[in-house]
Amino acid sequence: RKNIGILTSGGDAQGMNPCVRAVVRMAIARRCRPFFIYEGYQGLVDGGDKIREAKWSDVSGFLTLGGTMIGTARCKQFRELEGRRTGVLNLIRNGIDALVVIGGDGSLTGADRLRAEWPEHVEALEAEGKITKEQGNKYRSLMIVGMVGSIDNDLASTDMTIGACSALERICESVDAILSTAMSHQRAFVVEVMGRHCGWLALNAAISTGADYLFIPEAPPKQEDWEASMCKTLKASRDAGKRTSLVIIAEGAIDRHLNPIKSEYIRDILATRLGYDTRVTILGHVQRGGAPAHFDRFLGTIQGAEAVEAILRATPQTPSPVIGMLENKITTQPLKEAIELTGQVAQAIEAKEFDRAMGLRAASFAK
Ligand code: ATP
Repeated sequence: RKNIGILTSGGDAQGMNPCVRAVVRMAIARRCRPFFIYEGYQGLVDGGDKIREAKWSDVSGFLTLGGTMIGTARCKQFRELEGRRTGVLNLIRNGIDALVVIGGDGSLTGADRLRAEWPEHVEALEAEGKITKEQGNKYRSLMIVGMVGSIDNDLASTDMTIGACSALERICESVDAILSTAMSHQRAFVVEVMGRHCGWLALNAAISTGADYLFIPEAPPKQEDWEASMCKTLKASRDAGKRTSLVIIAEGAIDRHLNPIKSEYIRDILATRLGYDTRVTILGHVQRGGAPAHFDRFLGTIQGAEAVEAILRATPQTPSPVIGMLENKITTQPLKEAIELTGQVAQAIEAKEFDRAMGLRAASFAK
């Protein structure tokens, strides 16, 4: 019988609520006690009323709600050793011996760090007299399970992160709406989508909306004079009878020298070189808001259930797992490996090895 803390951390994503609901209910069904930790790691550091036991009925209605009902935050204190030590103290005080973290790569890195440092924190807290010897003996290790809640779909170890499908759906709806007005006026649109350093949302949005041109961080334009090449491509499709031009750009788009490519710059190029009436639409937070799509309700639910099973299966030697989905099957893989593999993509981009970055990104979805 475990006491399982649940928190959501980093940027919110549709599907986090279904995931929290599944953890709570599966925990209760398996005779464990679930605890909400409100506002991500901030709640862990603050303790007090930010940590409380969750009942079955507390998560009623969570399945269809966007965002995260238990709150999320970016917590500076948790990045420091002292902050994490206070978090350990609050977990022990509440009798929590397993933790489920739903967040992006930053949150999961923090989780893995907490687990690695755990024995050291317990020893220090015991020496400082903040916990008793019995508590120190009882809480020798902490089991942590991660799930990737992020609209960016940027983490290795899973084909889809929780939230990515809903965000893509919202992007497609928005671009469809833009295209009908663009067509009426024969306008060009530059649509900027989220994704941080990952081009998954932009790439899939471009395929799904029939965009004319695409910019993603992993594959910057090959030509030095990419502006001319873009204009040529767009003009060719206008010449072939198309009434609109659509450019999708990821917010992290860069050129081959790692300089950011800005939406406004593309607009100016299309306006000055081609004379198109060009507008920029930055979709912004609408992408991460609203109700989760079916797939994120499903993914959050089955992963949440599996997270509880993974906790019950684990021994103190089991490496912290991350729950994912590969080729339609739920998977459990070491969190550390997933984070390392994800980090390699950023390193390849930094080294301007773009083919390697693309290869790694593709492999990371298949690993
Ligand atoms: P998203 O992908 O949506 O931005 P994320 O989880 O990557 O989500 P971050 O802001 O990177 O978002 O991380 C969320 C929180 O996790 C941070 O505010 C911090 O409290 C904790 N965290 C992140 N990185 C670390 C780290 N290296 N060590 C300890 N804690 C960390």
